[in-house]
Amino acid sequence: MRDKSDLTKPVNEQNFIPDIDKYCDEWCERCAFTDRCGKYSTHEMDYLETEENDVTSEVFWEKFTETLQTAKNMLSEIIEREGIDLNTPEMDAMMAEQQEHDDIAWEHECSRDARAYTGMVKDWFDAAKELFDDKRDQLVLSAQLELPNVNPVAEVNSIQDAIDVILRYQMQISLKTIMAVRRTIVDKLKAYPDSPRDPEGYAKVALISIDRSVTAWSTLREHFSDREDEILDILISLDRLRKKIEKTFPGARAFVRPGLDEITP
Ligand code: SF4
Repeated sequence: MRDKSDLTKPVNEQNFIPDIDKYCDEWCERCAFTDRCGKYSTHEMDYLETEENDVTSEVFWEKFTETLQTAKNMLSEIIEREGIDLNTPEMDAMMAEQQEHDDIAWEHECSRDARAYTGMVKDWFDAAKELFDDKRDQLVLSAQLELPNVNPVAEVNSIQDAIDVILRYQMQISLKTIMAVRRTIVDKLKAYPDSPRDPEGYAKVALISIDRSVTAWSTLREHFSDREDEILDILISLDRLRKKIEKTFPGARAFVRPGLDEITP
């Protein structure tokens, strides 16, 4: 674990990769770059230590409230120092413009399909309780009978991993897709000079999340063959979404994410 004094050093002195967290999938538990990521380091020290990472502990919520209060105070100070008036016609116009961008991004065909996928996952898992109960009973029986050529532990691990991947990326796919679309709209309108390829980075994360979800659903298809038709429908939807994102963001696959696509961990 890093020393807190590391945070006072410039980023390159800490061996952190600049912007590595900008286009990652935010799954730190499975990331091979935690020791090169400044965000992880800060987050680790602020939230991941002992009780501060336990949402059931008072310490966690005290820390959370403290963080929110600090952010609020900082914002108030900036507003006061810069003399920003939040109740001006310009500010209203800016807020309306932001809302308009949000609405357009939300209704884009890629965003719509991504949101529909999020709903499909929820519906499938809502209806799967009995399915999982049956599978658990079947695997327990297999273990008790010590059937040859059957490995219940491996099967449990395989199912659990597939479920973890699907649920992990369920929201990520729509979030990153909407971010990519929204950023495209803003870039087109404002001609952002500093990050012209930003949308492709977000689209790439969405595509990677889709690829991994496809693999995970294919695994579930093998374990739950009687649900094959439902799973196939989901796989077809994911494939359709993948093609739409690739068409909308043709440079996404080739986008090089800082660190993640440059270094072999
Ligand atoms: S780069 Fe890795 S460690 Fe850093 S925020 Fe992303 S997933 Fe977490």
